[in-house]
Amino acid sequence: MEDKTLICQDCGKEFIFTVGEQEFYKAKGFDNEPKRCKECREKRKAARRAKEEAAAE
Ligand SMILES: [Zn+2]
Repeated sequence: MEDKTLICQDCGKEFIFTVGEQEFYKAKGFDNEPKRCKECREKRKAARRAKEEAAAE
């Protein structure tokens, strides 16, 4: 296995899907590749969390 360069669906920037991450995905049984860079994933996670917090009030 080797590192793969993927294009982020959200910001269009290239990001590295590392061997370690590929192994993690494989271990989890995911057969699809990540569509977003770490930054965009974090952003989405934060946005989702903010939404949940707003809904809980
Ligand atoms: Zn991105």
